[in-house]
Amino acid sequence: MRILFLSSEVAPFAKTGGLADVSGALPAALARLGHDVRIVMPKYAAVDAPRWGLTAGEEIVVRPAGRESRFTLWSGRLPETAPEAPVPCGFLANARFFDRPGLYQEGGKDHPDNLDRFSAFCRAALEVPRLWRWQPEVVHANDWQTALTLLYLRTHGAREPGGAPPATLFTIHNLGYMGLFPAEQFPLLDLPRNYFTPETLEFYGNVNLLKAGLLYSTLLNTVSPTYSREIQTPEFGNGLEGVLRARQRDLSGIINGVDYTQWSPERDAHLPARYDARDVTGKRACKRALQKACGLPVKAAPLIGMVTRLTPQKGVDLVLDVLDELLQLELQLVILGSGDPALERALEAAAKRAPAKLSVHRAFDEPLAHRIEAGSDLFLMPSKYEPCGLNQLYSLRYGTIPIVRRTGGLADTVVDATPSNLAAGTATGVVFETASGHAVLNAVRLALELYRQRSVWSQMIAAAMAADFSWDRSAREYAALYDRAIKAAGHE
Ligand code: ADP
Repeated sequence: MRILFLSSEVAPFAKTGGLADVSGALPAALARLGHDVRIVMPKYAAVDAPRWGLTAGEEIVVRPAGRESRFTLWSGRLPETAPEAPVPCGFLANARFFDRPGLYQEGGKDHPDNLDRFSAFCRAALEVPRLWRWQPEVVHANDWQTALTLLYLRTHGAREPGGAPPATLFTIHNLGYMGLFPAEQFPLLDLPRNYFTPETLEFYGNVNLLKAGLLYSTLLNTVSPTYSREIQTPEFGNGLEGVLRARQRDLSGIINGVDYTQWSPERDAHLPARYDARDVTGKRACKRALQKACGLPVKAAPLIGMVTRLTPQKGVDLVLDVLDELLQLELQLVILGSGDPALERALEAAAKRAPAKLSVHRAFDEPLAHRIEAGSDLFLMPSKYEPCGLNQLYSLRYGTIPIVRRTGGLADTVVDATPSNLAAGTATGVVFETASGHAVLNAVRLALELYRQRSVWSQMIAAAMAADFSWDRSAREYAALYDRAIKAAGHE
């Protein structure tokens, strides 16, 4: 299958979050399955052309609403993909739009011309296949930044005489980010006025670029089955639940995979000791080293880890609500996170009050994230919503029992320690329902009880480490969805 994959960030070239990880790993996995998949992304200042061996090529000129934008198409390929399954990457360079710090923001503020930047990118991206002399059967766009391509395919797409437009798939990675812009910017999109109505791109008086993906894709998906259902409700839909419900039959969920070459305790270069499912003794050395590094007493107390963006989404405020009670329990808590300054300050103040129990690291620190996954006994993720979540998947592989809220991808990937799941040997974590501090506290108490029952605990660790969330599996599900989209587009 020929797949054009569009994303505003792709690891390792440029990354702000999970979207980049998916955009690097999924195309690579599809190529390994034998598909001809190619990526197009912006060439930001952060993209290191010499390091990745990128070369400059032809020019693409677009003139949305009479304003000319010139892009240079740079070429490269995803590194570390096998020569027999390469993934070509096109990078669209435009100094005015992309030669600046920050992919979407600078100093915590969105770039004011984001609509202009990404709409021009979407227009130019559609010209890339022509330069490659290659026609995709499926165009796969991700999140609001690339959503417009799916509409431009209909309004501005160049077609071979008699040729059908390609099938399209749109993936929602986080409905919390919609690409909202003031109505005055609508003319910059170069679309007829009838695309600014509540049935099209208008959203309560603003332009909503995500809607282009929701409305004009052949099929759409999110990154877990539960999240795909949740976003059809007012609680999680952010006002788009009606639009999503109307497309219920075209909407599905596919869990993200894990890059087990980076995240496996048997070969993780960041760890002081390695271990695997057959022999977990190395995990104890990881725990001791983590306690030492964090200035916590080196002792047998259960150690709970958290690695997270500090935002309300992640339920950090719930933990703060009951932090004093939590720290009364026989446990230690290590938190690595950055984000909301108020949450950062509150956590650091708490750590000063209880230095023997709580260690807080205000940073984005990849090696420490690995050491926390390996050295902790439990991992806490009390998210209010969670499209997929990666950290609980890492925790499972590291034999670190996740305590999660029953939402989105957390609900789909952690098997709750109910009496029947424990009896069946399938339990891999503790799952709680309510988004409250009280519920977090109760879940931690329950987890500590299980921790004290050594044979139960060992069985849970074994079940957790055996869970398989490899990209290969998810890529097969995406390939099946592309097939379905091609069939559906043929009937449009
Ligand atoms: P989200 O994409 O919503 O932030 P995920 O759980 O899907 O949440 O992915 C978060 C990724 O970012 C994980 O790989 C996690 O280890 C990493 N991460 C988050 N915060 C930090 C941090 N402070 N330091 C290092 N890595 C972090």
